[in-house]
Amino acid sequence: MLTGKHVAFIGGDARQLEVIKSCLSLDAKVSLIGFENLQSPFSGATNREISPELLATVDMLILPILGTDEEGHVDSIFTTKTLVLTERDMRALPPHAVVYAGIAKSYLKNLCEEATIRLVELLKRDDVAIYNSIPTMEGALMMAIQHTNITIHGSNSMVLGLGRVGVTLCRSLHALGAQVKVGVRKPAHVARSVEMGLLPFSMEELANEVGDIDLLFNTIPAKVVTEAVLKKMPYSAVIIDLASKPGGVDFAYAEKRGIKALLAPSLPGIVAPKTAGRILAQTMTRLLAKEFGEEGSSP
Ligand code: NAP
Repeated sequence: MLTGKHVAFIGGDARQLEVIKSCLSLDAKVSLIGFENLQSPFSGATNREISPELLATVDMLILPILGTDEEGHVDSIFTTKTLVLTERDMRALPPHAVVYAGIAKSYLKNLCEEATIRLVELLKRDDVAIYNSIPTMEGALMMAIQHTNITIHGSNSMVLGLGRVGVTLCRSLHALGAQVKVGVRKPAHVARSVEMGLLPFSMEELANEVGDIDLLFNTIPAKVVTEAVLKKMPYSAVIIDLASKPGGVDFAYAEKRGIKALLAPSLPGIVAPKTAGRILAQTMTRLLAKEFGEEGSSP
């Protein structure tokens, strides 16, 4: 339980609603900043303005998945007001307070570092990334279905990278009956691919492997689908780039060559905000209970 603890939420989208629900059910005092236009307000939570006075009473400060931008702006789909987190606000937090965000840009990292406040980046956790790979995979398959005129079954599909997203995607494509080639760079990933019934190849050979590809899913956050690779791909191929912005594809050259290449960020929040919110809520409530709860919790 979080009885007597004060949790403040600044901004967010539908995913944050699941986290708010969890905190209320754990009996925390909940303050909401940037949620005035919420269609069904939470009974038990209070709408507040951002201020050092409020933050001085906060044990946990919960930011949206993307944290802040490089000027301290915090996005909220539930307000028309501009929300900005300043150094003054951060310095007002008590020393034991913890800030949670999905990921943090350098502005937020610096703010926390200078105020010696602990920052937890949830999307960097392995468990969250693995759970999140499920709605990501579903969103990627949805896009593949929307943007091709063939079935995934029987297609020549390629996945670049065998990390958290890559594994989930390869397994699902394989289960749907696609021929799945996977681009990797570690011997252990070659072995895992073989064990999964996939067709591994070294990323150094990428340009020589794309000649018969229908679908290419990139999960590598580096420019790997270069002009040299695109030149060898069929015009009919569809590329779905899942890697974080700016992605791993030379989009300008793909367009020039007439290959459909789509950058597909934030799929969990788009295709399954409720599930994506639950993933965060479950992890965050476990962390909060462990850190601040009266009884502690399982790991
Ligand atoms: P991950 O577990 O770290 O996997 C990344 C994979 O890329 C690993 O297999 C890694 O190989 C490989 N890799 C990295 N740099 C490489 C390079 N220069 N050359 C060759 N291989 C390289 O990450 P993840 O959790 O799967 O996420 C993958 C990407 O998707 C990230 O950018 C993440 O932010 C993004 N993402 C997007 C969505 C969405 O909705 N679009 C959702 C979740 C995640 P090694 O193991 O050999 O390093």
